[in-house]
Amino acid sequence: MRLRNIRGSRERIEENRFVINDPKSYRGRWRELFGNDRPLHIEIGMGKGKFISEMAALHPEINYLGIEKYSSVLIRALDKQEETEAPNLRFIRMEAEEVCEVFAPGEADRIYLNFSDPWPKDRHAKRRLTSREFLRRYDQILAEGGQIEFKTDNRPLFDFSVDEAREAGWQMLVCTYDLHHSEFAEGNVMTEYEEKFSALGNPIHKYIICRK
Ligand code: SAH
Repeated sequence: MRLRNIRGSRERIEENRFVINDPKSYRGRWRELFGNDRPLHIEIGMGKGKFISEMAALHPEINYLGIEKYSSVLIRALDKQEETEAPNLRFIRMEAEEVCEVFAPGEADRIYLNFSDPWPKDRHAKRRLTSREFLRRYDQILAEGGQIEFKTDNRPLFDFSVDEAREAGWQMLVCTYDLHHSEFAEGNVMTEYEEKFSALGNPIHKYIICRK
C-alpha cells in the first residue's frame, strides 16, 4: 500500500469510536465488545477496508475486526464506517505479529488475508502473512474448524503460501488459480487490490485452509 503521511491520522484514530486502541485488554473478551456471541472474523492487512466493510454489511450475523498497521491507511476505512456505522465492525491499528497477544486461543472463527505484502526476498519469507511462522500464530487463535481465506494475484507468493500450508499440515479446502472464472466466484466480495489487478487482466488466486 503506497503511503502518504496524512497529518493527524494517528490522533484521529485514537479518538475514533470505531477503533479499539487497547486491543490487548480485550483478549478473550471480544464478544463482550460486540455485546453478542456471534462468530468473529478478522481481516489482517485490510488496507482501506472495502472488503471488510462490504462483508459486514452483507453478514450482520458475523462480527468483524479489521486489522491494519498504518494509520494513514486505516483512516480511509473510518471514512466509510462513519457513514454506515455498522454495529458489527471495528478496527485495530496493530502489527499482525501481535495477534496472539490480542486474541485468546480459539477466539477467532475466520481469518482473511487479502493481497498481503509479497516480501519477495527469500530472507524476508518469515514476514509474509502466509508463512509457517504466521500459520503457527493463526493456529493458536483460531477456533475449532476455523478457516483462513487468502487471495492474491501474485503467483510466486501464492505458490509459496500453498507449500507452507501443506508443509505445516493444514488441509486445503479450496485452491483456485483463477477465482473469478471458477465455481467459487459466486458471492466473492472484491478487495481494492483485487479490483485493480483483475482490471489489468491478472487472474486472482485463492485458497481456503483449515486444520486437519
Ligand atoms: N487487503 C487490502 C490491502 C492489501 S495491501 C486489499 O486487498 O485491497 C496489504 C496491506 O496490509 C497494507 O495496507 C499493509 O499496510 C498491511 N500490512 C502489511 N503487513 C502488515 C502487518 N504485518 N500487520 C498489519 N498490517 C499489515
